[in-house]
Amino acid sequence: MTATIQDLRNVYRSLDPAGQEKARSLGDWFNRKGFWTEAQQRLVSSLVTRTRLPTAQLDLTGLNALFDIASRNLQRPFIVAQVDNQMVKISRASATSRNPGAVYVKAKGGDYLGKIAADGRWMPVAEAAAFPNLAKLLADLADDPAGVARAQGQAFGHCCFCAKMLTDARSVKMGYGPVCADNFGLPWGEK
Ligand SMILES: [Zn+2]
Repeated sequence: MTATIQDLRNVYRSLDPAGQEKARSLGDWFNRKGFWTEAQQRLVSSLVTRTRLPTAQLDLTGLNALFDIASRNLQRPFIVAQVDNQMVKISRASATSRNPGAVYVKAKGGDYLGKIAADGRWMPVAEAAAFPNLAKLLADLADDPAGVARAQGQAFGHCCFCAKMLTDARSVKMGYGPVCADNFGLPWGEK
């Protein structure tokens, strides 16, 4: 499979700084010329493939911080989100578990997909390969939890943080409810 400019854009965020610099220059070239040389195409493919390896380092500390806030307000906070046409559940390991402070990611049936270590590193297991867009979802959630929750709520009709259907007009518009906004420290309502 030949990696495309869109593939390169999709993985950009999960590349290390050196990889991002290469990706930028490859993107600039493509935008000017409309094609890549064979050598460039090989480099694009290697950048795209590299980010699919479990060693790809994402900084997901934003998600750890989100769960820090939610854990003050809830016994077992979680986030349910849809990715690659499947539901995943993101929840914090209990304080007495083997991984206190880590955040677990599981598929709907309960299959373990990986964990976000207490220092924000994403550590997927082989099963996560069935979810090509999972790392991006996690990165987006870490960067902009309210934005992702809004997009998910509006697309699928339920709140990411409690899985309840969104009913009143304001919650539908926000994509999540006021109680969950409060629990997760997110904005709610009109400015
Ligand atoms: Zn909710």
